[in-house]
Amino acid sequence: MNNKFIPLSRPCFGEEEKNAVIKAMDSGWVTFGPKTLEFEKNFKKFVKSRYAAATSSATSGLHLAMIAAGITKGDEVIAPVFTFAATINPAIHLGAKPVLIDVKRDTFNIDTELIERKITKKTKAIIPVHYAGQAADMDKIMLLAKKYKLIVIEDAAHAIGSKYKNNAVGNIGDLTVFSFHPIKNITTGDGGMITYKNKRFDELMKIYRLHGMDKSAWKRLSKSGNWFYEITVPGYKYNMTDIAASMGIEQLKKIKDFNGRRKEIAHIYNKELESIREITVPYVDADRVHAWNLYSILLDIDNLSISRNDFIEELKKNNIGSSVYFTPLHFHPFYKRLLKYKIGDFPNAEWVYDRIMSIPMYAGMKKVDGFYVAGVIKTLIKKYQK
Ligand SMILES: *Cc1c(COP(=O)(O)O)cnc(C)c1O
Repeated sequence: MNNKFIPLSRPCFGEEEKNAVIKAMDSGWVTFGPKTLEFEKNFKKFVKSRYAAATSSATSGLHLAMIAAGITKGDEVIAPVFTFAATINPAIHLGAKPVLIDVKRDTFNIDTELIERKITKKTKAIIPVHYAGQAADMDKIMLLAKKYKLIVIEDAAHAIGSKYKNNAVGNIGDLTVFSFHPIKNITTGDGGMITYKNKRFDELMKIYRLHGMDKSAWKRLSKSGNWFYEITVPGYKYNMTDIAASMGIEQLKKIKDFNGRRKEIAHIYNKELESIREITVPYVDADRVHAWNLYSILLDIDNLSISRNDFIEELKKNNIGSSVYFTPLHFHPFYKRLLKYKIGDFPNAEWVYDRIMSIPMYAGMKKVDGFYVAGVIKTLIKKYQK
């Protein structure tokens, strides 16, 4: 047995990130400032978007994006049921109602066939999630948005470096939100980035991001700044810090390498596991570049004498971390109560939830560990085959 625990995920840092963070500390300017602006500039170039706004997290970024989109009390927003709470919580804070949609059993992305019948006069936005780093069916989503004049806010927390038909995720919908939480493809400790094309969004979000002060108020304590500022809206404290941005600038330089290494691990898993009858490896659409934030398999529990939960425990006994992304939103007591959904309302998400598990995937993962993980899974499947 492997005597070192292989986690589900871990961030990958070199001396570059450490030196950059120390440099920010030595500069005497550690919060929002020149490094955050530089990171925004580099990131928008990376996804070929006109604007970018760095935030304290993707969750705060989604909140700002929804404010920019004008989402307010009484509105409805459409989102997949198979996602993290942060996709819809900001809408709830704004007084809007999330309308959840089932996902497809192969990609675990929103089933675009089910969207149109859920659009009402109150619908304001569609919020697709790019599960695991594979883009949702954006052509169909953009068509529906155009037809019904809806705003598209992409939850691209998993999708840094992902492409849809040769288009970088980050320059497709009206607003795209990325996460730099340590489990994502690059990290700033915590952080987020919103990309978009609209100048008015830029003005709005940059004011709301920092208390409701005007855009240059962050400079007020520097030599080139002025102490005077005015509050024009009740804003939030959602800025990124220059310490975080310094880390992010170095991480972004490595994104191609990082995603390449993730892809290598995915290929090892695919090769080792795709012939196992009781396992379904991730389905990848031909016109996508998958960012491989997660590698999620389906267990054919009908032909195994072990549950998914026990399978996770067995992996842990073999020093392998694994987890479930996601518990469908309508299984959580709060949304069940608020949105009045019942078990059975989202058959695909429920079917997937019983079977899905994500196995170790990170840029710094050794290939030999990939083979070890696949080997343990194969042994367990043999042991529990019906
Ligand atoms: C991680 C994640 C988020 C939240 O990102 P934070 O930066 O931690 O706020 C939102 N949506 C999805 C789908 C995620 O996986």
